[in-house]
Amino acid sequence: MTERTKLIIGNWKMNPKTSKEALQVFKEIGSAQKKVRKIHVGICAPTLYLSELSKIKGKSTKFFLGSQNMFYEESGAYTGEIGALQLKNLGVTMTLIGHSERRALGETDLDCNKKVKAALKRQITPVVCVGETERDGSVWYLSTIKTQLENIFEGIPKSALKNIVIAYEPVWAIGKNAVREATPEESLEMSIFIRKIISHMYDEKSAHAIRILFGGSVNTQNAESYLKHGGIDGFLVGRESLISKSFAKILTLADTL
Ligand code: 13P
Repeated sequence: MTERTKLIIGNWKMNPKTSKEALQVFKEIGSAQKKVRKIHVGICAPTLYLSELSKIKGKSTKFFLGSQNMFYEESGAYTGEIGALQLKNLGVTMTLIGHSERRALGETDLDCNKKVKAALKRQITPVVCVGETERDGSVWYLSTIKTQLENIFEGIPKSALKNIVIAYEPVWAIGKNAVREATPEESLEMSIFIRKIISHMYDEKSAHAIRILFGGSVNTQNAESYLKHGGIDGFLVGRESLISKSFAKILTLADTL
């Protein structure tokens, strides 16, 4: 079985405040990316910065510019939306889909399913985000993840799986108001569970091949133990991806493990 290439993605969310700052952080991350050899790196920036960032990204096939969302229609009367073809024409090759902060605004599994299909049609890699909002003593969170995966992958052919990434982000571990950090064991449990679901829906080979990232308060302190013990292929990093030195450190760590 072939080894999965690690992938570290920064999700800048609604930051930074100016395009000048965005360009500066992106340049610094771009330099750090040039120094790593084995891993893939992505930055999912606010849509309004993508055009400028695309101009300075360079040609590396291991460095991806991504959006944080996209619409499932390609053009037409959809005020405020941006489609896959428009993103593609800007040089965007990756997009987050179904981030919990978008779900909190009303995005459904069905929306995500349509978006994944629309992204694949334009060779944009969908990074499908799944995660439970809370963990109580029961194991209900497992069925939440199962339902999200089954709904979002509905009608997606096996041949497309190699172009999809899954990001497991427990909502309770995200952001500065996180309940707590997830443990590497919790990450491992979920990566095994996600592969099991993919294996049931497709087959074992596809389940082995798909990349699963972890997201939620990843930082320079905890990254190593997630990578070593969390059963994951990389990260979706929020806050620390805006601090280029910290993000660079995570890249170097992932490259050397
Ligand atoms: P933080 O790393 O800031 O907790 O955000 C995680 C996240 O939501 C990435 O998509």
